[in-house]
Order: sequence, then C-alpha cells, then structure tokens
Amino acid sequence: MPNPFENAMVQLDKVSKLKDFGDELIARLRQPDRDIRISIPVKMDDGTLKIFEGYRVEYNNALGPYKGGIRYHPETEINEVKALAFWMALKCAVANIPMGGGKGGITVDPKLLSKGELERLSRGWVQKLSDVLGPHKDVPAPDVNTTPEIMAWMDNEYGKITGEKTGATFTGKPIEKGGSQGRGPATGLGGFYVFDSLRTQIGLPEKCKVVIQGFGNVGANAARVFALHGHKIIAVSDSKSAIYKEEGLDLEKVEAHKKATSSLKDFPGAKNITNEELLELPCDLLAPAAFENVITEQNAEKIKAKAILELANGPITPEADEILFKKGIPVVPDILANSGGVTVSYFEWEQNLKSEIWTEKEVLEKLLPLMNDASQKTFQKAKENNTYFRMGAFILALERIKEKM
Ligand code: NAD
Repeated sequence: MPNPFENAMVQLDKVSKLKDFGDELIARLRQPDRDIRISIPVKMDDGTLKIFEGYRVEYNNALGPYKGGIRYHPETEINEVKALAFWMALKCAVANIPMGGGKGGITVDPKLLSKGELERLSRGWVQKLSDVLGPHKDVPAPDVNTTPEIMAWMDNEYGKITGEKTGATFTGKPIEKGGSQGRGPATGLGGFYVFDSLRTQIGLPEKCKVVIQGFGNVGANAARVFALHGHKIIAVSDSKSAIYKEEGLDLEKVEAHKKATSSLKDFPGAKNITNEELLELPCDLLAPAAFENVITEQNAEKIKAKAILELANGPITPEADEILFKKGIPVVPDILANSGGVTVSYFEWEQNLKSEIWTEKEVLEKLLPLMNDASQKTFQKAKENNTYFRMGAFILALERIKEKM
C-alpha cells in the first residue's frame, strides 16, 4: 500500500516544479510543525488494561489554529495522519478560512469496543493532549469512525481539565452541545456545491449518473443531495459490499435496508458487485468517499467515469493522477471537493466563540459562496498554469499560505 505521506510529498514536488514558491516555503511544508504520538491506557470492561496508540499532527498554522479531524481505524498510523494534516492545511487555504492544518487519530477498531470503552479511550486522547489543544491553538473535529457523541465526550473532558467553557476546542459536536446546524451533511453538501459550480467546465451533463464509494457520513449525505437535485445514483458501497442498479437506486430504501441488515448486500432489485468493480463502472461521475489509495496505477487505466470528485482524502495516488490526466478524466481534488466539512466546522467554532447560534439556512447561505469561489479560483489557477485541478488547488493554497508566512 503506498504511503500517503510520500504521496502528499510527491504532490508538493510536482507543484513546486510547476511554479516557483521559493525553497523556504517548500522546505517548511515538507515536515509538520509538530507530530505527537501518545499512548492511551484504557481500563477495559473485563478489568484488564489495554494500551492504545494515538496521534496529533500539527502541520501548519500560518492561516489560523491547527484544524482537523480525528480518525479511529485499525490501520491508522503516523504517516497517514501526517498526510491528512498536510492536506488539511491546504484545504483550509483553498476554502479561504482562517484555519491551519492538523489531524489526529487512534489505531483502533472502534467496532470492537463497548460504548464505555470507547468513551474512556476518547477521554484518554484528550487527557494526553489537553496542553496542545485549545480554541486558538488546535481545534479537532470528527473523521472516519468518530461521531458527534465522541466530540461531546472530548469537549467535556477538555472543559473539565482546563476550565474552558466556550466549546470552541472541538467542532462536529451534537447541536444540543454547541454543534452547528448543517455540520452533519456539510462535507457531502459542499462536494455537491463544488460539483455544481464546475459541472459544465468538466463537461458533464445536466443530469448525471453517479457512483459513490463509501456510504458513511460523507458518501451517504452526498448521495442524498445528488439524488435530491435529480442525479441518478447507480451504485454505492461500504467496506463489506457494493450494489449497482443501472436505473438508479432508491436511497431511502437502501438506507432502510442497510439499517435492517447492517449491510448493503442483497438490496432488492440491485446487483451485488465488488468495490473494485464499482470503481470501474461506466458513469458520468465517480465519487470515492471512503479511503485513500483506492485508485492506483493498477486500476486507473480501467476507470470509465467521465469525471471524478474526490470526497475522500487522498483516494488517488500520484501515479494514477497522471494516468487519469492522460485519459482526459478531470479530477476535482479532495482539498477542494471535501472542504465543505471544515468550512462548517469553522462556522461552528465562530458561533461558539461569539456565543451565537446560526440557523441551517444561514449556515448553508454562507457555505455556498465560499464553495463557488474556491471552485472557480481553482479552475482559474489550473487554466492559467496549464495544469490539472489538483495542481490548480495546490497553487491557490500555497500562494495564500506563502503570503501569510
Ligand atoms: P465514515 O466512517 O462515516 O464512512 C466511511 C465509509 O467508507 C463507510 O461506509 C465504510 O463502510 C466505507 N468503507 C470503509 N472501507 C471501505 C473500503 N475499503 N471500500 C469501500 N468502502 C469502505 O467516514 P466519513 O466521515 O464519511 O469519511 C470518508 C472519507 O471522507 C475519509 O477519507 C475522510 O477523511 C473524508 N472526509 C470526511 C469529512 C467529514 O466531515 N466526515 C470531511 C472531509 C473529508
């Protein structure tokens, strides 16, 4: 499996060859400001003590406090967290919000823990890191397998340790605990806004056939918004299964089926396929919304989508990027396509600091122009520099970071 941080650095090399940002900026961005590894002792329900490995990477804070989610996954390790933190720094710059880049994680399969164990583990992460966190220092959020409830535990733990009461140290909290309206669907919705802004520029029809990999927070919410706007979701998947129906899936029924059976498999009227087959389906738009490194040099040649919207972080390796470029398949990059999530996280932070509560309508009205602006500026930068969207977004981000640094 390619190392995501090496992939991120290949991307940085590529952009520095396209445009001269000066050696100092590139050297600073080759390493995070700080990478912290912690061990978290957790008393398990059976009375034994288990030690978990956790991380917080603070990559760059030129634009504002470090900002980025916390991932719970058995394969999470420091290089993945470093890559995600690097992309967060660029993503906040592309979205034009006053936040820097950070990321955290714990190597754990949360499905194997009881609720009590999960809460003790989450509070343990905060106990080890409370010194470096804070509304004006480092503001974590949810990512894969972390939920609003986990953010509420963490925020509560942080308040107990430090006395901080604004709730602005963690975003993605439940609404009743200071969360923002619209944060749940924000990443999927923001992805739709980006797609809609660039749709004609990437040569897609008014009504598209869409394939989505991953049916979690991002993938399921994106599927709903695309369907709401008349696009046809022809295939979706989760970690265990994938389903395909050429005429389009009824998402409400798919969700009910997944709830009832804990799986997408055997959804009536749809064909069971593999995740590999899903990625290679002919469609207008393919949206990977699960994990990094799913489109590599092994399968890039077989991709038949007319365009790709990277809702997940790092789903395409640099080698695959080149192949897709040569095939003429435009890729809307992660640091633009999934920036709606961190943008609404920033709105939550601002509401908490100002003791304000914005309506969902206000939140969405603020999100749309930022997503449109980021999309069109990315397009312009790509065009001016005669390159593809990812490099356009990198140029936009690095110019903004360089100016502040
Ligand atoms: P999630 O845990 O809610 O959902 C992940 C989904 O991917 C689940 O449906 C899971 O079953 C599926 N999955 C896992 N392994 C898979 C595999 N090998 N093949 C196919 N599907 C698989 O996570 P999420 O929050 O939706 O995050 C998904 C991606 O989006 C990640 O890359 C994350 O970093 C990125 N992202 C999330 C947010 C956010 O606001 N949650 C913001 C920006 C980016």
